[in-house]
Amino acid sequence: MNVLVINCGSSSLKYQLIDSVTEAVLAKGLCERITIDGSVLTHQPAGKDKVVIKQPMPDHKAAVKLVLEQLTDSANGVIESLSAIGAVGHRVVHGGEKFASSVLITDEVIKVIEECNELAPLHNPANLIGIRACQDCMEGVPMVAVFDTAFHQTMPKEAYLYGLPYEYYEKYKLRRYGFHGTSHSFVSKRTAELIGRKLSDSKIIVCHLGNGASICAVKNGKSVDTSMGLTPLEGLIMGTRSGDIDPAIMEFIAKKENMSIEEVVNVLNKQSGVAGLSKVSSDFRDIKNAADEGNELAYTTLKVYAYRVAKYIGAYAAAMNGVDAISFTAGVGENNGSVREMVCGYLGYLGIAIDDEKNKLRGEEVELSTADSKVKVMVVPTNEELAIARETVALV
Ligand code: AMP
Repeated sequence: MNVLVINCGSSSLKYQLIDSVTEAVLAKGLCERITIDGSVLTHQPAGKDKVVIKQPMPDHKAAVKLVLEQLTDSANGVIESLSAIGAVGHRVVHGGEKFASSVLITDEVIKVIEECNELAPLHNPANLIGIRACQDCMEGVPMVAVFDTAFHQTMPKEAYLYGLPYEYYEKYKLRRYGFHGTSHSFVSKRTAELIGRKLSDSKIIVCHLGNGASICAVKNGKSVDTSMGLTPLEGLIMGTRSGDIDPAIMEFIAKKENMSIEEVVNVLNKQSGVAGLSKVSSDFRDIKNAADEGNELAYTTLKVYAYRVAKYIGAYAAAMNGVDAISFTAGVGENNGSVREMVCGYLGYLGIAIDDEKNKLRGEEVELSTADSKVKVMVVPTNEELAIARETVALV
């Protein structure tokens, strides 16, 4: 069966068409500037040239229509007709406490996703727009919602409750949810396979280090703690997000800079992290280059970043009373050997040693740890689209 995987943002739509038997990507692409002047679709059919189509996309339905046209186009297409799409898998950011696994989308499910909108006001409404646009264009095709939060619904209370008045949890469901669940689930499963352990008898720490970044403690295949919280702002220092800070800083900045609470949160989300700290960029390649050229602040930024990752690894080794393997994934985790080296430099107390030559590899599955390392250290490239396609097939 071919599965169309959709990741819809407020003005963008990413897609992949995946053959669920061979798991090959038949085509992938991105619509940008939907609803804005200058809409553009970049479509990449496997084995053919990339196509760039500049055409107005006044709404998401227009974007989905254009994608479907390209998938079935006589020159740029990869399937004969829309009947070759057996199911659609949608990435949905927030499932609140309502969804602990992926679900087949029904009218009732859409209503419940809508109820979670206030927990992810920037993401969930856009995800729903994508679902509705696909339903309009592909009547009768089964669709599945795969939630970023679902994998973490196994966290125990001690991990998900904040030290706040309990009534906020009762009234507003204010608690830690965690994100990147699809990636943490995919990478932890693959890690268990690679280290030859049963998932049901394993302790794995997954470090998803991308532009957004989070760490997850996966015990016996279940998420028992993760670094993102009510929103993706908590936890690690990220590309532009601050991660953990003293909450009193919010009032301090608001007074000093004469900002509203919304403006401060915007600073924490968009102008902080390694971008704000280094004054260079949110991109780790730029920061590493600057550090190599002698930029002290860029070097300090990398140290601050790695230190936070190492602290969370220590916390999660404690939470699971041990760890069998630590896996690095996503843009930085898969490609940036110097960040991995800095992080592992803190982990000698766990008996961890990594092979410097293997650590130079990029973007491939590799065991970084030396033969005598007490804990395996791995690089396991994530593939959220494939994970969504697999979940979709399982439900359809
Ligand atoms: P993601 O959000 O997973 O796409 O990750 C984006 C981050 O990965 C950016 O900060 C990039 O700097 C980083 N990244 C991607 N490719 C490389 C690379 N070849 N070397 C170092 N960092 C990389």
